[in-house]
Amino acid sequence: MSSNPTVPLLSLTTMTRKSWKRFGRRHRIIRNIIATIMLPAAGLWYAPNIQLTTNTAIWALVYYFLSGIGITAGYHRLWSHRSYSASSFLELYLALAGAACFQGSIREWSRDHRAHHRYVDTDRDPYSISKGISYAHMGWLIIMPGLKQDKVDVSDLDSNRIVVWQHRNFTAIAIIVALKGGSIYAGILRMFFFQQATFCVNSLAHWLGDQPYDDRHSPQDHLFTTLITFGEGYHNFHHTFPSDYRNGVTWYQYDPTKWFIWSWKKAGLASDLHKYTSNLIGKCEYEQQQKQLDQFWAHLNWGVPHTNLPLTTWASFQQEICQGRELVVLAGLVTIRSYVGKDATSAFNGGVYAHSTAAHKLLDDLCVGILLGGVELTKNPWPPGPGNY
Ligand SMILES: [Zn+2]
Ligand SMILES: [Zn+2]
Repeated sequence: MSSNPTVPLLSLTTMTRKSWKRFGRRHRIIRNIIATIMLPAAGLWYAPNIQLTTNTAIWALVYYFLSGIGITAGYHRLWSHRSYSASSFLELYLALAGAACFQGSIREWSRDHRAHHRYVDTDRDPYSISKGISYAHMGWLIIMPGLKQDKVDVSDLDSNRIVVWQHRNFTAIAIIVALKGGSIYAGILRMFFFQQATFCVNSLAHWLGDQPYDDRHSPQDHLFTTLITFGEGYHNFHHTFPSDYRNGVTWYQYDPTKWFIWSWKKAGLASDLHKYTSNLIGKCEYEQQQKQLDQFWAHLNWGVPHTNLPLTTWASFQQEICQGRELVVLAGLVTIRSYVGKDATSAFNGGVYAHSTAAHKLLDDLCVGILLGGVELTKNPWPPGPGNY
């Protein structure tokens, strides 16, 4: 739908803390309790009394996808992050489909989500994982903290006719489209399961998984959250590159939302698909791997640095042997008794047996000194550490 960013159609940006407390906050809490607790509870209660036919099961599954994509491709990647542009027809479909999941209007959802990205893990994050996994999952919907998102700009949404129309008539639209597929299985239970899947992105995706791109904040990638959320579980990638229309960056990663958007582009319904360059993504990935390697390196005992070992002469070395010390030059293999008092370098490096990397690392723990002229002192044999690259 055509939008003029200079002409806001909605004046909610001027909503005061007082009016939010008196109307907006209370209204949303009541609606959240009904939509995410009372209705699902009623649906689960009545479901055993209603026969689930094959046709109903198939339709419920199809409607689960048709409506869920309204949240992932619409509410999230289109309106919250502007990762692509959509035609009016596609915007209308996504607005109706997203409403069928009963997760609030586009404006409410996107405002919360933009605040989440901007203030992630802090008090101003609406569903901050730092307040606990149950709070991030559903608790925040009931507690709904005060208006702390005043710095989040949603003026682009207030200038979009479809967004404003959906916001003003959300409850009526949501009831109609949510129950369009059916009352229990394709209606309430479909809605309930997709709500829970979405909530997992706010909870599990900030609690479980890997951080291949950035570990400064909590978002993580995990296959489980990816499978249940149409690809939204690549959350570490998403928080690092939020305006990329993909969450699963490689073509084979499971991300149906990305495939839908790409297909809509081919069909002429979507355009301006935003992608970060593979070079930029690769640099973030490299730095994160380097950081993890450095952390791993710091946890290992590499022995006394060779630069801190005392120097000794061959004569002193022989004198210590005569005094009963079992010393071996370089090899340090205390188990090779036949080499005590001798230079075992050539034997250690293949003359007798080509020792493994582990055997070489064991030497780091056994070294007690450096023999003058016995080792190459012009090269630093110490392994590289953080900051030495
Ligand atoms: Zn997140
Ligand atoms: Zn996001």
